Amino acid sequence: MSIDNVNLFNLLENTQIGVVIHNATGVVEYANPAALTLLRLSIGKLKEKSLDVDSWEFIDMQNRKVPYHELPIAQVLATSTAINNRILGTINKDTDKITWFNVNAYPEKYKVNGSSPSFVVVYFTDITAKISDFSYKDIVQHSQDMILVTEAQNIDAPLSPKIIYANEALCKHTEYSLEELLGETPRIFQGALTDKASTLRIRQSLIDQRPCTETLLNYTKSGTPFWVQMNIFPLTNEFGEVTHFAAVQRNVSERKFQSEQLDKRNAELKKIKQNLESLVNRRTSELRSANHKLEKLAYYDALTNIPNRRAFLDAFAKSLNFAKRNGHAMLIGIADVDHFKAINDSYGHGFGDDVLTIVAQTMQQFFRQEDAIGRIGGEEFAFCMVLTSPVSPRQLLDRFREKVSILHETHPPLKGRQVTLSLGAVYVSDLKEVSIKQLLCDADEALYRAKNKGRNTIECECYDDIDNEGLEPCEDGRAGTESRSKPHHVT
Ligand code: GH3
Ligand code: MG
Ligand code: MG
Repeated sequence: MSIDNVNLFNLLENTQIGVVIHNATGVVEYANPAALTLLRLSIGKLKEKSLDVDSWEFIDMQNRKVPYHELPIAQVLATSTAINNRILGTINKDTDKITWFNVNAYPEKYKVNGSSPSFVVVYFTDITAKISDFSYKDIVQHSQDMILVTEAQNIDAPLSPKIIYANEALCKHTEYSLEELLGETPRIFQGALTDKASTLRIRQSLIDQRPCTETLLNYTKSGTPFWVQMNIFPLTNEFGEVTHFAAVQRNVSERKFQSEQLDKRNAELKKIKQNLESLVNRRTSELRSANHKLEKLAYYDALTNIPNRRAFLDAFAKSLNFAKRNGHAMLIGIADVDHFKAINDSYGHGFGDDVLTIVAQTMQQFFRQEDAIGRIGGEEFAFCMVLTSPVSPRQLLDRFREKVSILHETHPPLKGRQVTLSLGAVYVSDLKEVSIKQLLCDADEALYRAKNKGRNTIECECYDDIDNEGLEPCEDGRAGTESRSKPHHVT
């Protein structure tokens, strides 16, 4: 027997698979007996239904009515491609029971008729038994999350909204039995520390029939508080009306505790950081003042509080560079207190120290801010001046010598005991070839000559080629430039 001999129509008429054949406009042309049984329709009713697309009533697994354009028949008509294994259900209006189908559909084309399908074959099997293998209620009942369902009416009435369902997890966690909860309101879980703002937000969502998520402090029957994160959403009936609210709640006490601990730890860390910052600030300012003191120690003479030898030499080097760059003259001098050893010996070391301090103060007052001065040895002081205007070195040096020699008349600590100094200096108008060492050496030699001449005197070596004996004092009241053929000793 060949396959051609098998009566395929017989097969259609006898199979348990429901088969419905639609024409190119979607109207039912044929339905086999299995299809009519499964759909609980006569062929006449089925044909009639197919003329009115709105009369098709199928739901999906989410209980949603599937619009006609999403049904396999409509999709095959629209796309000319097969649809496989769609699960659709129909509700028996009398029993409220759902029958679930596994639906397939494909276009059947006449070769002569071009590309659009001439027929759409839809075939389906009843899979209700398989689908019913599990129940959604079981899932909800045994969920680890706490699930509660309330009625949606009279939100604000004293015992509303009424609890109509609570799953095992909720009963276990809250310590209430289902019987105790049914007819109660979820406010039963709230207590003294439950946040009022959160409960008001929930209430508003219920009134507006909107979903909401809140984290709330609830209490068990025995009064133990616990944090729940709850997700509340409205449930609708087949007419789209909100009839109930479901609340899925998760115990987040642990997480809440951890986040509180974290907040606490962060606050502690912030405090530690602030303390550290203020400590660092304090240490920085201490360090700054210590550095300042060190700098003072390193650059200032502790007894007289004027620059020491090192600081003087630094300032001298800067002044020399400045004078060289700008073509200015310089006057460099060393002053040495006369017979200082004898002063110490006669009047004591303390008196000697007073002498040094007073001489240093006198230098500070006599020389300008821009001149460099310093104590460069025991009773030896040095100075250097960049001469930007004509100055008489002799007059200037002599005025200083004179000033020191009369200190005892004005300074009570000197007790009328005259202090004198000898001064050796060098004046150079052209500094190009000279060094600090050489200038100090020349000044020292001049000082040596001054000492030899009997002390309380000045000696100045001038390197200058202009003879300008008897210049007038400058405007600053010190002296005019004194210049001689080089070198010339000024006394
Ligand atoms: P001259 O006129 O030749 O300069 O003689 P002089 O006695 O001043 O010179 P000398 O170098 O012989 O003595 C300097 C003295 O200065 C010796 C030293 O004890 C004293 N001296 C050095 N530093 C200090 C100090 O800080 N305080 C005091 N009181 N005396 C000091
Ligand atoms: Mg000396
Ligand atoms: Mg001396």
